[in-house]
Amino acid sequence: MMNYKTGKEDESMFEINRNYLKLPGNYLFSTIAKKVAEYQEANKEKEIIRLGIGDVTRPLAPAILEAMHKAVDEMGCAETFRGYAPEQGYQFLRTVIAKNDYQDRGCRIEADEIFISDGAKCDSGNIQEIFAKNNKIAVCDPVYPVYVDTNVMAGRTGKFDQKTGKFDDVIYMPCTRENHFVPELPKETPDIIYLCFPNNPTGEVITKEELQRWVDYANKVGAVIIYDAAYEAYITQEHIPHSIYECEGARTCAIELRSFSKNAGFTGVRLGFTVVPKEINRDGVSLHSLWFRRQGTKYNGTPYIVQRAGEAVYSEKGKAQLREQIGYYQENAKMIYKGLKDTGYTVYGGVNSPYVWMKTPGTKTSWEFFDTLLHEANVVGTPGSGFGPCGEGYFRLTAFGTHENTKKAIERIKNM
Ligand code: PLP
Repeated sequence: MMNYKTGKEDESMFEINRNYLKLPGNYLFSTIAKKVAEYQEANKEKEIIRLGIGDVTRPLAPAILEAMHKAVDEMGCAETFRGYAPEQGYQFLRTVIAKNDYQDRGCRIEADEIFISDGAKCDSGNIQEIFAKNNKIAVCDPVYPVYVDTNVMAGRTGKFDQKTGKFDDVIYMPCTRENHFVPELPKETPDIIYLCFPNNPTGEVITKEELQRWVDYANKVGAVIIYDAAYEAYITQEHIPHSIYECEGARTCAIELRSFSKNAGFTGVRLGFTVVPKEINRDGVSLHSLWFRRQGTKYNGTPYIVQRAGEAVYSEKGKAQLREQIGYYQENAKMIYKGLKDTGYTVYGGVNSPYVWMKTPGTKTSWEFFDTLLHEANVVGTPGSGFGPCGEGYFRLTAFGTHENTKKAIERIKNM
């Protein structure tokens, strides 16, 4: 084939997206897996307990299974068969979401502002596509790595500095013990602000007053907030907001991401949604209209069966069964939090989230503590440094294990 640019034969023409080469290797979970496999190989008799990965373990609730079975049967019958789903998702699902997650909490969100998706990961990655490349992003440090990674791929982050572990065109907002893991307003003005509460990995939350300050700030400087509320179902304290739309003025500056993964066990089923209020505009164009065009959507990629499963999450039976399931993980979080605290560790999170964020003892780095825990307690957690530079010196344990394993893990840590 001839390259029309150079006129040379056998020279390919396509070019790769070189931004992908700037991605720092995602070594976190592969390094963990390698270390655990090596240890297990050398210590075959040891029983390793995994409290590291953020995946759920409880099976789907009966009300959800029932809805899925029914939907499967409908698909096998000519009268009830469904083909391509409506591009924004089925009305039956968007209506129950708008009512239960928003209107019942006093938030003015309508069903036609909700976009069903196959999960918050995809949406949190894809949402940046509706913004120009020269926008500057601000992210919490530490945080779920998808926000930065997808902006790296889009060429919005500048160069990576190995020494600092940061991209030079990203505003990192430190979340530390000193600020109770809630970032201060940045000195440099961002265009796109990513906030995630309850936070992964710190498990910490933001109060309504603090969130209101962010909403006021975004409206003042003309920024947009992308608010990831994937863990809102774990909030136990009355005064903590479940949605950014509990704040006044959020409709003109905030997009919210939600997931069915951690509240209903859909990590394998795949279901989430994004709320884009109609009032967020730039130069007369609404973000709502742009998100409608995401990846040229002509139909929704989330199957009918899954959307019916999502609807069952809001049925009376579904709600009761999921309260129990979330309660199960909350019990684990409590057990981890209390167990570590009683042992003398400094711990955060755990109260309104399935994550406990602990300070590593003494001067141990996150990875040093990982090794200690693996070797001395046969417990696997996640080194905090994997979530950003400010995560160094911290360690994440998750509540998604069984009661028995969680209890055993804490006993072993106590005896270390
Ligand atoms: N947002 C945060 C903060 C997460 O921690 C995760 C998963 O761990 C996700 C989104 C992904 O959610 P989903 O399973 O809906 O893609």
